[in-house]
Amino acid sequence: MRYISTRGQAPALNFEDVLLAGLASDGGLYVPENLPRFTQEEIASWAGLPYHELAFRVMRPFVAGSIADADFKKILEETYGVFAHNAVAPLRQLNGNEWVMELFHGPTLAFKDFALQLLGRLLDHVLSKRGERVVIMGATSGDTGSAAIEGCKACEHVDIFIMHPHNRVSEVQRRQMTTILGENIHNIAIEGNFDDCQEMVKASFADQGFLKGTRLVAVNSINWARIMAQIVYYFHAALQLGGPARSVAFSVPTGNFGDIFAGYLARNMGLPISQLIVATNRNDILHRFMSGNQYVKDELHPTLSPSMDIMVSSNFERLLFDLHGRNGAAIAGLMDTFKQGGGFSVEEDRWTEARKLFDSLAVNDEQTCETIAQVYAECGELLDPHTAIGVRAARECRRSLAIPMVTLGTAHPVKFPEAVEKAGIDAVPALPPHLVDLFQREERCTVLANDLQTVQQFVASHGNRGKPL
Ligand SMILES: *Cc1c(COP(=O)(O)O)cnc(C)c1O
Repeated sequence: MRYISTRGQAPALNFEDVLLAGLASDGGLYVPENLPRFTQEEIASWAGLPYHELAFRVMRPFVAGSIADADFKKILEETYGVFAHNAVAPLRQLNGNEWVMELFHGPTLAFKDFALQLLGRLLDHVLSKRGERVVIMGATSGDTGSAAIEGCKACEHVDIFIMHPHNRVSEVQRRQMTTILGENIHNIAIEGNFDDCQEMVKASFADQGFLKGTRLVAVNSINWARIMAQIVYYFHAALQLGGPARSVAFSVPTGNFGDIFAGYLARNMGLPISQLIVATNRNDILHRFMSGNQYVKDELHPTLSPSMDIMVSSNFERLLFDLHGRNGAAIAGLMDTFKQGGGFSVEEDRWTEARKLFDSLAVNDEQTCETIAQVYAECGELLDPHTAIGVRAARECRRSLAIPMVTLGTAHPVKFPEAVEKAGIDAVPALPPHLVDLFQREERCTVLANDLQTVQQFVASHGNRGKPL
């Protein structure tokens, strides 16, 4: 499988290089040159497979030529073996033909574990083959950091540095990062905000001299391997609900458009998905595009669903690429306009094409709490605020009651107690067994000034399992 850039200028890469690449050299994102397509018979024959075996069949074409079948099978069995639920991604019924797919049974209780548990193992596999080491730098306002650290803690060839804004993440979220101890794990609390952290990651990618030749790897959702891993659970859900003989609709709590883009790919690979709903919070740039063909940046609004607090949706470029007939020059032009502060609209027929599949809704904090309370009263299911936004959008945008509607349950409610409390629900969700002693565990974290040089010096002097590079 070869991968090409959405801006058309960077060289095509194989899977192994795409795994290590991050952004393409032309500023674009990598996508498969040709998407594999499965027949209905093939998909039907996967019914009843354990999750890791389904994952092998869905993802195998993407890694072909880079990772041997036997190795890939073993990696997948290990990856999904760490999930705390036998079904890995169980479906829970709310009302008639309405479902939540629980994607929060991984180590850090959010769906990001599906991709990052795999990414860490793939990196280690490829790096050990090459005899190389890499450094990962990432910025987090919550879920990504802990999932990335959990995914990389056992990697012998990776040192990971995760920056979070000092005193600005919740205690559960901080502890999920800082209590994972290992000589290759480095938590940095920056005396600044999330944007400061993200800017330092970007600047470090742009000028990697301080790493003395060690490669820097990205773990945010621009990394293709993350998207790839998320395609699998769309197949998993559909197969349980009568697919592929029957269509299924999905509602996806959305920020950077990574998770829902995986659903779009599943459909293009042959899975009959009749509708994809983009569910956003008040940070609604994608809703404004889907409902009114305007892709225009707005200010950041902090909400009760912080993992969807974004101004720009990085993976949306991947959809735009397809909507423009995979014309890289057109995408480079659009992104240039956008960078210069302008928003854009796409041509009417391209927008109409997108609207055949996608609907959208923006849900504010009050409506989020309302939905948490409503669903709890209806069926005793306690939703986290992100999932609640998905359920709200599913109910409002649903096109057909005859088609099963699945909302992606992106996080466990215990991670976001503030929203549960605001919804007026007394039942404090309990920490699952593997985290019950979270508040007693030892924490390890370094507080650093909001200064690029200070951070880069820290990375250079600890980047080789705590020793200098
Ligand atoms: C990351 C995240 C999202 C948003 O996913 P995208 O792929 O960025 O659209 C939604 N909910 C939760 C809980 C998350 O952690």
